[in-house]
Amino acid sequence: MSQKIFDFIVIGAGISGASVAYELAESGTVALLEAESAPGYHSTGRSAALFTPNFGSPEVCEINKVSEAFFLNPPDGFCETPLLSPRGALTVARSEDDYLSSLLQLSSEQSPIYTVSKAEALELAPILKPELVHQAVYEPNVRDIDVATLHQGYLRGFKHRKGELLLKHKVVALQHKADLWQVNAGGEVYHCKQVINASGAWADQLGELAKAKPIGLIPKRRTAIIVKTPRGLDLNAMPLVDFVGGAYLKPEAGNIMVSPGDETPVEPQDIQPDDLEIAVLVDWLEKNTLITVDRLEHSWAGLRSFVEDQNPVIRYDHEQEGFFWLAAQGGYGIMMAPTLAKRAASLLLASG
Ligand SMILES: Cc1cc2nc3c(=O)[nH]c(=O)nc-3n(C[C@H](O)[C@H](O)[C@H](O)COP(=O)(O)OP(=O)(O)OC[C@H]3O[C@@H](n4cnc5c(N)ncnc54)[C@H](O)[C@@H]3O)c2cc1C
Repeated sequence: MSQKIFDFIVIGAGISGASVAYELAESGTVALLEAESAPGYHSTGRSAALFTPNFGSPEVCEINKVSEAFFLNPPDGFCETPLLSPRGALTVARSEDDYLSSLLQLSSEQSPIYTVSKAEALELAPILKPELVHQAVYEPNVRDIDVATLHQGYLRGFKHRKGELLLKHKVVALQHKADLWQVNAGGEVYHCKQVINASGAWADQLGELAKAKPIGLIPKRRTAIIVKTPRGLDLNAMPLVDFVGGAYLKPEAGNIMVSPGDETPVEPQDIQPDDLEIAVLVDWLEKNTLITVDRLEHSWAGLRSFVEDQNPVIRYDHEQEGFFWLAAQGGYGIMMAPTLAKRAASLLLASG
């Protein structure tokens, strides 16, 4: 049994847990417990790595607009390379479509969205079939996030602030006794004043261990594949291309990442891609773009976990004292992390 009493124990070292642990370690003693041998093995390491400030509920969009300042100006020493790089997003429709009008209405001074002609769309995305483009809008402020650098920046900063990262520490029991939480993980028992549940798709399962009320989290599978760029085309500067009613794709380290945008509800697990989903996606890609697929370079699936209102859950449990939820980041958890971590830490420190 560890004799030390931590101020905070954060459970889960994906982007949510790493970022809040970093913020808390500035003011208190923190242990960050991770079930896997590598932090970021689950959703954090499987994302599309995009900063899309106009994507999600109005609350999510607001959170992401706040995050932008952190991405552009991270704390001194946080990272050596930029966290964001230019990408842009082109949304194309093959016929008149209300979705494009709704996108245009989201345009703001900070994140403009505007119509582009068919010729401009074809120039921006040379993989498009001209006969399948009727309307297109462009959003220049969408950018790529260097997720590994962001995640490592948080973990490195956390260690620098004397935080303790414990890998292969799956939390198997949680008990609140005499104002302290007793946390069983990795064959040890740890004690703390407050527990932060940042366990991603497993958040409701972890909540059950603490006898907390479930938040109704639903993990949803999303599939992605990497295919080769068509010979003779340099697509490195191509924007993200989102096909209304179809898949989305973007350049990825000299190749192209494609996702059908699937949202299949599943149990929390080390999710794997579905062969049929991939076969349908490849067929769609060959019919709707100029890309032909000889073989897949890579394929994977990840979980995007939502509650009913599609907003993150960032609050104390209503019944279990000192048990804090940082969950339900859906498809926006990387870009929301800087803002959610600061907000969660200020709530936790205020009552710590
Ligand atoms: C295909 C795809 C594309 C996406 N694209 C984007 C995007 O472009 N932009 C964006 O912002 N977001 C995107 N997302 C969403 C983003 O990846 C997630 O919202 C984010 O990674 C969630 O981070 P997390 O730390 O909450 O979860 P995770 O990264 O899953 O971390 C949770 C951690 O908790 C650990 N854990 C679970 N149970 C326990 C336990 N009992 N004890 C100890 N540890 C435990 C797990 O091992 C895991 O490491 C995408 C997701 C997918 C799948």
